Amino acid sequence: MSTFSVLSVASEVFPFVKTGGLADVVAALPPALAREGVTVHTLVPGYPAVIDALIDATTVHRYADLHGGPARVLSSRTAGLELFVLDAPHLFGRPGNPYIGPDGKDWPDNALRFAALGLVGADLGRGAVAGYSPDVVHAHDWQAGLAPAFLHYGEGRRPGTVMTVHNLSFQGQFPKTLLGAIGLPPHAFSVDGAEYYGMIGYLKAGIALADRITTVSPTYAAEIRSLEHGMGMDGLLRERANVLSGILNGIDDVTWNPATDTLLPFRFDARRRKARAANKDALQARLGLAQDPDALVFGVVSRLTWQKGMDLLIDALPLLQAHGAQLALLGSGDAKIEQGFVAAAQAYRGRVGVEIGYDESLAHLMQAGTDALLVPSRFEPCGLTQLCALRYGAIPVVARVGGLADTVIDANEMALAANTGTGVVFAPASLDALGAAIERTVALWRDRALWRRLQGRAMATDVSWARPAARFAELYRALATSRDA
Ligand code: ADP
Repeated sequence: MSTFSVLSVASEVFPFVKTGGLADVVAALPPALAREGVTVHTLVPGYPAVIDALIDATTVHRYADLHGGPARVLSSRTAGLELFVLDAPHLFGRPGNPYIGPDGKDWPDNALRFAALGLVGADLGRGAVAGYSPDVVHAHDWQAGLAPAFLHYGEGRRPGTVMTVHNLSFQGQFPKTLLGAIGLPPHAFSVDGAEYYGMIGYLKAGIALADRITTVSPTYAAEIRSLEHGMGMDGLLRERANVLSGILNGIDDVTWNPATDTLLPFRFDARRRKARAANKDALQARLGLAQDPDALVFGVVSRLTWQKGMDLLIDALPLLQAHGAQLALLGSGDAKIEQGFVAAAQAYRGRVGVEIGYDESLAHLMQAGTDALLVPSRFEPCGLTQLCALRYGAIPVVARVGGLADTVIDANEMALAANTGTGVVFAPASLDALGAAIERTVALWRDRALWRRLQGRAMATDVSWARPAARFAELYRALATSRDA
């Protein structure tokens, strides 16, 4: 297998800067792709948290003036990643959230900051650093969306380009008066280029001009071509459907391994699952739930928002109670939904246990101690909690949308007869359908031998990065071959 070189361009990378799943993907893919013969370098902005962490950084490229100040590109192997870091203190030398200033508003120069990221991504793609010329430049989300655009409109070497949409609801739109300042030529402001409803659209430019577009699940890739889920981009995505595909995310199977998880009071694996009961006991104690091993405990680890269908779940609580089930919930989000669950915990004392907040270690205990994990999302690009649930043997009960539809196999009657099925899948995301799914889960729980087999299949599901990395490697190679032809 020949080695293949990819430059990944992103605004976040775990463990240095993270506001969402993007950071995890950007950090997890390079080691998984290395096993596929693909070498990944990652270009990220030089936020203080990144610069401070670098080991043995060397300067590989300089800009006398990059949108208002001098800048350089540093190269360093840190945290197992080959990093290029855009050290531009006037743009990125600000601690805290990468996008939002201390006043809680977007930094006023975000257009320039992320245009610089895209521009430098394109320059590196064209071979600005001696001895480095990637086959593909892979841009993640709107912050990197201009990299394919600068490569498209620029001169010189033109590697293949891939644009990945992790979240279609963040699109990066800026006034058209900035076109010159960010360095795009006047003709880039057109419907087939960077123009988006009279503004400059960074994600739109990437989607319009990259050779390939991916998003985080096959079903979401289909859904975003519809008016309902397209967030204004559906027309363009339909036009480009022949180069749009969905590649699922994986999870870090070292952090999320019940056999070695140091955040758990009791460790277990698929063959020795007894300790799940001890974790369930610990979880019930922690959340003030009745210590009843026979009660079916549904878990939720989630942002508490409309997207996640959490308002539906509040309405479904009486039904859940009627079946003698318990609810263990960890999350934070909309004040009204938070209050709804806090009130429910008081109304159903010992049957509904709620912790409002973000707690990594409780999240692990939830996956290890609940019997089933509820994810009634109205939309879900990929979703990670259901992947953790599969690995930890919490049966996922999910709405049939986006990545939830692609990762959980419904244990319907025929599936069970054929010895398949890893969870309960329902549609649409409505109170009635959620209620029916809860009832179906309760029925499965009554047959403990069947439940155990279901759990065994869930735990055997491959939720690692191996398969997604193989799909990306295939996509990169196919792209390079099509460009050579
Ligand atoms: P989204 O990115 O839309 O919030 P995902 O399911 O893709 O949803 O990823 C959410 C991640 O954050 C999961 O790994 C989940 O375990 C974690 N998470 C969500 N809420 C909490 C919380 N309150 N405490 C700890 N971890 C949480």
